[in-house]
Amino acid sequence: MSKEKMKGISVKKSEDFSRWYTELIQKAELADIRYNIKGLVPYRAWASVSIKRMYEKYEKCLEKKGHLPLIMPTLIPERNFLLEADHVEGFSPQVFWVTHGGEKKLEEKLALRPTSETALYQMYSLWIRSYNDLPFKRYVSGQVFRFEGGDTRAFFRAREFHWIESHDVFATEEEARQQVIEDMETTYEMLQDEFAIPIIFFQRPEWDKFAGAVHTYAADALMDSGRVLQLPSTHLLGQNFSKPFDVTFMDEDNEEKYGYITCYGPAISRIYGAMISLLGDDQGLVLPWDLAPIQIVIIPIYRADTKELVLDKARELTHLIDDLIDNAYIKLDDRDYVNPGEKFNEWELKGVPLRIEIGPKDIENNQIVAVNRISGEKIRVKQDELNKYIENYAENFTKLLKEKYSIQFESQVEIANTVEEVKKIIGENKIACTGFCSIDLDGEPCAEIIEKEVKAQVRGKRTDAETHKFEKCVVCGNPAHETVYVARSY
Ligand SMILES: [Zn+2]
Repeated sequence: MSKEKMKGISVKKSEDFSRWYTELIQKAELADIRYNIKGLVPYRAWASVSIKRMYEKYEKCLEKKGHLPLIMPTLIPERNFLLEADHVEGFSPQVFWVTHGGEKKLEEKLALRPTSETALYQMYSLWIRSYNDLPFKRYVSGQVFRFEGGDTRAFFRAREFHWIESHDVFATEEEARQQVIEDMETTYEMLQDEFAIPIIFFQRPEWDKFAGAVHTYAADALMDSGRVLQLPSTHLLGQNFSKPFDVTFMDEDNEEKYGYITCYGPAISRIYGAMISLLGDDQGLVLPWDLAPIQIVIIPIYRADTKELVLDKARELTHLIDDLIDNAYIKLDDRDYVNPGEKFNEWELKGVPLRIEIGPKDIENNQIVAVNRISGEKIRVKQDELNKYIENYAENFTKLLKEKYSIQFESQVEIANTVEEVKKIIGENKIACTGFCSIDLDGEPCAEIIEKEVKAQVRGKRTDAETHKFEKCVVCGNPAHETVYVARSY
């Protein structure tokens, strides 16, 4: 690493988030936006290790709940897209098409998958025969491609992103609805418990749902800026796709019936972006214990006359910890050409959860110095208590991180009875809770007025218990059939 890079991030996160994020991506070597296709971004090793671990956790969780993996082709023939009208309309402007094989023009255009419904369901129609095959729960991990305009922001917005999509088929609508609930629970288990990102689920309004869905339920992450960020969504597709794709099964009564389908798409790259944005600080990256590429770094501190003594002891400690601690990668930073202060900054920038320093005085006293990445707190630990200390530390690290960012949804919300009040609340970086005529298409003109006057979006209605009731729609004054939340989103 050059000296220039080791200087760390030059702006405070609270002062200029956008620049802070750009510098974090570059200086912690997470991604490189200089790749020469617009909107496609290589992820560098430090991010790729964490993203790989996020995939592993998510896949394991899905498999525990009865999903099996599939590996699917990346190309989808055009005729599949044309089968579901809303889906075509929603996705057509975003599809990358493959039109040639070598010099030869293909007889049929092939889409680089923007999402996999139309690839999977034609196969589902061949694979699912009877009620004995249901529920049929499968997931695909991989990349999807969407030709989106606007600026690219590494991990958040790109023309290629990395996700998991699960697609499940059921005999009844009730079971499909239960699956949507399970998908929401999975999202809480992963995002809140494992990745320390606070979220809340909304049923999205009709005008904002997935192309072809009956209903869309989406998680909004509560970012510390007061804005929200859409994270995984789960969709009740009902029979909207099973009919055109002929996903049927022979039921117990010997009648052929259409299945009910749900799909769920956690975008791992976007979740990673949300996680590093939320958890990072002015020093750089902060990562949950399990997701950091390295959990513990040992930094020997010596002068010429103590070098051998300190390095020997540091090596011995590295081996000892490596042998006794299972859930951690440990690194001894014995580079001679970098001074300890620069090493501290570098590993803080990279978000290593625990730093251990050892110098001649510490050796004399049979101790080490442990430095906490979240609080910066330094404490002395006796060497014979080190294993216990690390075990404890590992167990509590992610918990501490969650506590630090546990944003109580209610504390972010204020009640609004007029559009002016919505505007004021949004201006204070909060979320407005208000009465709304309808989240069916009838309500769309009112949402457009809010968008125009407040520059914020109607995110939908809460999926959990709602306590607030309103008499009138905040915009048109007609009876309020819904309580909705208005926020600015990324
Ligand atoms: Zn209205």
